[in-house]
Amino acid sequence: MPWNVLVNEELCIGCGECVDVCPVEVFELQDDKAVPVNVDECLGCESCVEVCEQDAVNIQEI
Ligand code: SF4
Ligand code: SF4
Repeated sequence: MPWNVLVNEELCIGCGECVDVCPVEVFELQDDKAVPVNVDECLGCESCVEVCEQDAVNIQEI
């Protein structure tokens, strides 16, 4: 099932928690912001949404 992964750059503080928690390495830190670089691998598990204290990550079914 395809998913879209969005990071709100204004909210992201670059803590890297989403990078660490994602089982399929969707995120990469670039200039202290999380960037979804591997969205095609997303499983829709929402671990990144749960771990982000800034509420900066959104997952959408597409
Ligand atoms: S967990 Fe949230 S604040 Fe931390 S790097 Fe990821 S998107 Fe940014
Ligand atoms: S929903 Fe799960 S698989 Fe998809 S980016 Fe977030 S942690 Fe990774």
